[in-house]
Amino acid sequence: MKCKHCGKEIANDSKFCEFCGKQVHNKRILGIFGVVLVVVLSAVVLSVIYYKQEKKDRQELEEQRIADSIAQVEKQQRIQDSLELIKQAQMEAERQVEEAKQQVEEAKRETEKAKQKQRELEDAAMDFFAW
Ligand SMILES: [Zn+2]
Repeated sequence: MKCKHCGKEIANDSKFCEFCGKQVHNKRILGIFGVVLVVVLSAVVLSVIYYKQEKKDRQELEEQRIADSIAQVEKQQRIQDSLELIKQAQMEAERQVEEAKQQVEEAKRETEKAKQKQRELEDAAMDFFAW
């Protein structure tokens, strides 16, 4: 490279010009420093982007989890409602069976009464004809 002070050709890795003695900046070192700076800045920017994205993902995941919980609770509520309906239908059926049993009992009593009446009439007839 050339010294920017005196313009003479000097070695590329020189820190001071061997002709005028002034400090010269090594472009290669500056270049490496620049690359390192860019890499570090990129890493910082990428970290920030990644952190924000991760935060957003976590938030979405949390929202999804809450939505799932609500759906689960609603599903359980629907199942419970269905069970309640089934229970009511079962109770209604049992009540009807009980009613039917009572009607059968009533019919039996009526039949018994009619038979009793018939026996009484037969006995009266027997008494009459026994004369
Ligand atoms: Zn010089």
